[in-house]
Amino acid sequence: MKCGVICASLSLLLGGCCCFPPGPLTPAIAMPEWLDGVERQFEGRAVPGDEAKLRFVIDLAVENVRRGTGGPFGAAIFDSRDDRLIAVGVNSVVPANQSWAHAEMTAFSHAQHKLGTFDLTNCVLVSSCEPCAMCTGATPWSGVEALLYAASGDEARAVGFDEGDKLPEWAQSLEKRGVRVVGPMLEEDAREPFRLYQEKDGKIY
Ligand SMILES: [Zn+2]
Repeated sequence: MKCGVICASLSLLLGGCCCFPPGPLTPAIAMPEWLDGVERQFEGRAVPGDEAKLRFVIDLAVENVRRGTGGPFGAAIFDSRDDRLIAVGVNSVVPANQSWAHAEMTAFSHAQHKLGTFDLTNCVLVSSCEPCAMCTGATPWSGVEALLYAASGDEARAVGFDEGDKLPEWAQSLEKRGVRVVGPMLEEDAREPFRLYQEKDGKIY
């Protein structure tokens, strides 16, 4: 049985119907086991204050490098009304072979999956580093109302990471779309994941 014109055309090429049972589009992305444990341990707990939230995601970035589960970046989504942790994310590009799997994107993905909505209104994105061009673009579509970050993008570029082309006034553009931007902050602490990654001769992309 054919599901439509496209399927009928493809069936000529493929020699059968192209319909397939529904399944995950990207089954390759799984949270590292240790990160899943962190999320379970801390979810629902309040982490008040910008600095405490930033230290939390910097620790995630350090741990990700230490355990060899991805690049030197960590992120988390908090409820902006009561500072409760909703979801965490780390960079998983190399282990997952997924170019989009930056810490901010995996944090968005986990939060949206857990909340059962694509709209993260009343949430704040906290990242160990200034978001790259992709993650900056994805931020307003996620619905978060604030972005808090530690290291500047220059720190990531200094290590060799490609942060993509961003307008100099990227923060003002986000503000215009209703996303409050705070950073850079705790820059000295935020260098630690990069230092460790270089020490371990981590892959640069
Ligand atoms: Zn990114």
